[in-house]
Amino acid sequence: MRIKEHPILNFDRRKEIYFYYNGKKIKAYEGETIASALHAEKVKVLSRSIKLKRPRGFFCGIGKCSSCLMKVNGIPNVRTCITLVREGMVVEDNDMELSEKDYPECKFEKIECEIAIVGGGPAGLSAGIEASEFADVLVIDENHCLGGQLIKQTHKFFGSKEEKAGIRGIEIAKELEKEAVKNCRVLLNTSIIGYYDRGYHFLVGVNKIERVVYEIKANKIIFTTGAQENMLVFEGNDLPGVYGAGGVQTLMNVYGIKPGNKGLIVGAGNVGLILAYQLLQAGVDVACIVEAMPRIGGYFVHSAKIRRCGIPIYTSHSIKKAYGNGKVEGAVIVELDENWSIIDGSEKKISCDFICLAVGLTPSTRLVTQTGAEISFINEAGGWVALHNEYMETTKKGIYVAGDSANIEEASTAMIEGKIAGLHAVNSLKGVSDFKIKIEKYLKKINAFRQGFFGSRPKKAKEKIIEEYYEKMGKGRNS
Ligand SMILES: Cc1cc2nc3c(=O)[nH]c(=O)nc-3n(C[C@H](O)[C@H](O)[C@H](O)COP(=O)(O)OP(=O)(O)OC[C@H]3O[C@@H](n4cnc5c(N)ncnc54)[C@H](O)[C@@H]3O)c2cc1C
Repeated sequence: MRIKEHPILNFDRRKEIYFYYNGKKIKAYEGETIASALHAEKVKVLSRSIKLKRPRGFFCGIGKCSSCLMKVNGIPNVRTCITLVREGMVVEDNDMELSEKDYPECKFEKIECEIAIVGGGPAGLSAGIEASEFADVLVIDENHCLGGQLIKQTHKFFGSKEEKAGIRGIEIAKELEKEAVKNCRVLLNTSIIGYYDRGYHFLVGVNKIERVVYEIKANKIIFTTGAQENMLVFEGNDLPGVYGAGGVQTLMNVYGIKPGNKGLIVGAGNVGLILAYQLLQAGVDVACIVEAMPRIGGYFVHSAKIRRCGIPIYTSHSIKKAYGNGKVEGAVIVELDENWSIIDGSEKKISCDFICLAVGLTPSTRLVTQTGAEISFINEAGGWVALHNEYMETTKKGIYVAGDSANIEEASTAMIEGKIAGLHAVNSLKGVSDFKIKIEKYLKKINAFRQGFFGSRPKKAKEKIIEEYYEKMGKGRNS
């Protein structure tokens, strides 16, 4: 399952190591996560559903779903998709019932900083770069590396040159990381699990493998926790081998591991189209892409490339069923009429051993919700988001959001929003010379990004978020 040759990526398989999975010795390479190393050895069932014990496989690959939870070195519920494998590690199926002995002793560490940033993706790193010019900044990420979703984007980005258009996502991640680590403190492998208002902002972070609980006191917090992939309702959607599109990108482009031999993609937006091409680059066949809308949602340049490669894109089609014995062995697709109802007799069997869902993202707002900031369901933003003003500050003073967690958009806008949040937070803390000029420049830039056909949805989302923010705060936008 490990990819040996790739036109863009060179997989740096470091030292060969061994770990134990339910007592069996498994080969891995340093730098692989537990779940990806198991995948490479064809272990696709990572957990079981609590009630019916149905098998669960790799889905999101970024620690946001629960399908990869396993017991590691005696610690239950470890998210194996973001935990690096280590020599001699003992990995077991998760116990369904936990007892006191499952909660080992932990060390407690206190950290103080002026600005804490939760999430080291493009939004968080840009916020950190901006704010660290004037303040003491701590960036926390639960993954083992910085970069967020950029670490798996092998394609060249669109947008403006200043926001790194024409550069591959993986290179942008490296540039941002290099810049951020110069001036920010960074805490990796640490999930922020709680927020408390103690008269100051207080976060609780956990590094399960090192058994450390961090107590973090900050003057301002910027939440840049990204988004999670949407699930789709169909028979067999929980079979191992049904992945989120981003999960497959993580497996292939970060760890160099194939998800299977032949895939079916659901969703012909940019993510589905780009993924199809990346699967071909990894030497994996794509049976077809199905899209429920009567037209392709992604950019023409991507769909044209996919068609040239001979991959059929069926619009007004969806998936009805995934079937297989304990893993995906095929799918049934159907044609939809103008009311999105299944057309009788249109069922078609597709032979495939994995299915990728590229059906949108939902902002990750669980943490910011704990702060008491007002949350609202904004359809155009992708779901529940924290209301915020144009400077990215929420209704809770000193709490900011930016990037996909504040509205599903793009890395380019996530970076600008991060800069706005970082600059505003630091200015309200200690004052920044030329603040007005600097912030106006960023606001102008982000508005320019939201022009045109593809910018209309995020523009509408932001207008609603900002309008509701001022309504809740009981003041006009310019007051
Ligand atoms: C297939 C695909 C193609 C794309 N192509 C483009 C493109 O061409 N151009 C473009 O501009 N954009 C593109 N994007 C979108 C872009 O990747 C995202 O918009 C961008 O990464 C969002 O940045 P972010 O910083 O908000 O979130 P993310 O990049 O998701 O980063 C969030 C970070 O927060 C961390 N985190 C989350 N919760 C916690 C917690 N509780 N504790 C600690 N850490 C936490 C995560 O580990 C992660 O590192 C693409 C996306 C996909 C999936």
